[in-house]
Amino acid sequence: EKKELRKLVNSDTISRDGRRVELGANIGNPKDAKKSNENGAEGIGLYRTEFLYMDRTSLPTEEEQFQAYKEVLEIMGERPVVIRTLDIGGDKELPYMNLPREMNPFLGYRAIRICLEEKDIFKTQLRALLRASIYGNLKIMYPMISSLEEIRQANEVLEEVKRDLEKDNIGYSSHIEVGIMIEIPAAAIISDMLAKEVDFFSIGTNDLIQYTTAVDRMNEKISYLYNPFNPAVLRLINMVIKNGHEAGIWVGMCGEVAGDPRLIPILLGMGLDEFSMSAGSILPARKQIQGLSYEEMKEIADKVLEMATADTIEKFITQYV
Ligand code: PEP
Ligand code: MG
Repeated sequence: EKKELRKLVNSDTISRDGRRVELGANIGNPKDAKKSNENGAEGIGLYRTEFLYMDRTSLPTEEEQFQAYKEVLEIMGERPVVIRTLDIGGDKELPYMNLPREMNPFLGYRAIRICLEEKDIFKTQLRALLRASIYGNLKIMYPMISSLEEIRQANEVLEEVKRDLEKDNIGYSSHIEVGIMIEIPAAAIISDMLAKEVDFFSIGTNDLIQYTTAVDRMNEKISYLYNPFNPAVLRLINMVIKNGHEAGIWVGMCGEVAGDPRLIPILLGMGLDEFSMSAGSILPARKQIQGLSYEEMKEIADKVLEMATADTIEKFITQYV
């Protein structure tokens, strides 16, 4: 079984009837990138840069960040590497930043909201990213976007950093895609409009499920309500993919759901272009997709979207797993 899977390390991910998708890895540091390589990743779909900032007593310098980003880009070569800008707050704390205590940290001052206010922190990271961009195929991704204004503000800072680099005669790649995470329902709902201003979407189901269903992703007591088969969640995911495609951009997913064998048939049928998951899930997912028909899964996805309860959907989909 394991040996059979190993054979798929260097193969593409193509459905039985010829639909090609990309399987990427979610990573937290350069070591993970090596591991994802051994597991057949076609790219990095999510590099969580928070870990560079955690377990220390001060912010990482531009140089430290540059080295880490460069290392990952070099390991992946020509393959795409989506690096997410700082997504701190919620469950991820940085004691040295002295952020205010909040009643609802998941609904509070976090991620892009911090970056747009603490511009120096954001600029340092963007500068490190741009400098590293010449070593590979970098794509920059903003987390926790809830409005068009945030995209425009973040892009303004990015342009400012580019101008600074030009003044200093420091090079950066001229073709860096910039995308956003779709993990807040507000963003999913206006994804038709957001799609016109970015190069890609990556759906963050870990948070999208939490915010759509009002279920704290850390709370055991209500975990039975935290369900990717929730028809509202599936409807949003489908909408985001359609809106992205209508605007001509690619749509990926980097939440846990992307590597879940029960969801993969539905996501393939909805037309998801890129699935990013923990390294260990990549080969099983490749094998599964190679055995599925895209045309058939399209019909399955349409059927699922007509079902009104998570339970019905889950039972129905089990026959395709
Ligand atoms: C998500 O929200 O789905 C996601 C991938 O990001 P994180 O788990 O880091 O919040
Ligand atoms: Mg998230």
